[in-house]
Amino acid sequence: MVTVVLDPGHGGSDSGAVYKQYREKDFNLKVALMVREFLLESYVVKVLMTRAKDETVSLKERTDFANKKNADYFFSIHHNAAGGSGFESFIYNGNINNSTKVIQGIIHKEIVFTMDKYNVFNRGQKRANFYVLRNTRMNAMLIEVLFIDNEKDLKLMLNDKFLRDVAMATATGIAKALNLPRKEKPKPKPEPVPGTIYKVIAGSFKEEENAKDRAEMLASKKIDSYIYPVKINGTTFYRVQAGAYSERKNAEEQVEMLVKLGISGAFIVIEGPSEPEKPEKPEEPTPEPIKGFTIQGESVLTADTMNQFVRNVNPKAPALAQLYLNIGKLYGIRGDTAFAQAIHETNYFKFTGTVKPEQNNYAGIGTTGPSVPGASFKTPREGVLAHIQHLYAYATKAKLPDGQVLVDPRFNLVARGSAPTWVMLNGKWAVPGTTYGQMILSIYEKMINLEVENVNKLLDDLEKTKQQLDE
Ligand SMILES: [Zn+2]
Repeated sequence: MVTVVLDPGHGGSDSGAVYKQYREKDFNLKVALMVREFLLESYVVKVLMTRAKDETVSLKERTDFANKKNADYFFSIHHNAAGGSGFESFIYNGNINNSTKVIQGIIHKEIVFTMDKYNVFNRGQKRANFYVLRNTRMNAMLIEVLFIDNEKDLKLMLNDKFLRDVAMATATGIAKALNLPRKEKPKPKPEPVPGTIYKVIAGSFKEEENAKDRAEMLASKKIDSYIYPVKINGTTFYRVQAGAYSERKNAEEQVEMLVKLGISGAFIVIEGPSEPEKPEKPEEPTPEPIKGFTIQGESVLTADTMNQFVRNVNPKAPALAQLYLNIGKLYGIRGDTAFAQAIHETNYFKFTGTVKPEQNNYAGIGTTGPSVPGASFKTPREGVLAHIQHLYAYATKAKLPDGQVLVDPRFNLVARGSAPTWVMLNGKWAVPGTTYGQMILSIYEKMINLEVENVNKLLDDLEKTKQQLDE
């Protein structure tokens, strides 16, 4: 089981920041206890506290405790003071594990999402040489919830609903970041309804694992469900039931709501007072969910960051990012990840392989050997379009979007829908290529990091501006 150490800052003879009759140590403890409560209520996790009451504990005692307990995560809770307003989080500014930053990002975002509703300023994800971050052997993070000596912040800190919301977001963030398993909820008892019952099935799977994934996904959207097996023509299906109604209209509304959440294939099963339940149509398994990072999806990067990333290596690279984003969107393909693939294929658009720059072939389409130059495209736009179409061929069996003209000469040679994820391109787009998809994703990750850096710089600038205005 994962062990999380919660560390409410200060305590006992050390009050932390003080303003009027308020002491930082009390707020830290209050939030920490609520985080513990929420974690234990919903997740399978061991939670330890460096202090659970108002007592003096040295910094060394805190980190020694976490180290001795072999904790998996150390989470310190403080409140800020001395001019300023808003929320910020910290990780160590020395050598850290790769995941430290990722975890900080997940938890920070979750908290900011809640704080936004209260108009709290996001001061950003920061790094610092704090004792508890430096001396813990596990991943560690420290948050400064709000400024005790800022009247607007203090008003929120005295609002219990706010503190509970922040604690809930913190617990959710920690659970997401550490992948904590949810506690099994007691199964809702089916209400005894006389007459016909309309059950809403939000997916029916041959693998129980997939049914569990679906139930978890529903839980994350606050929809209660439970799984039960049925045998149909000798095959066992695991149905995920998300509601049972005595009125058909209500069941249909529930199906509609599920469809809006992107859960296609939900259906209604009718159970009469005496007859066994049966679906209205012959039961077919819900398609297995795709595991791994998909080729279809939304871009998240900005064109500026993408072009900047390439030009850091090759200042003469053409500015193709916007084309990738636009055409990717048209086809429902992640244009920013496709751009990472183009970077890999063209070596940052330096074209050091067999393809020449004037071919506008950014994805090595048709370059089946070292002396085969591959396809040529009239314009950069057509080259990007062919690349996206080629990905589309791998990612889905669907026909081209309405009004689109095929320019990829090898589209029809692709086993349609055979690679819905980037890693599944291994051995298909590149032969033998056992790490092809991974290399694309690693370039993509580096671009995301650059985007994060850019956003953090922007936040710092904003904060500086704000402080200048305050003065
Ligand atoms: Zn403090």
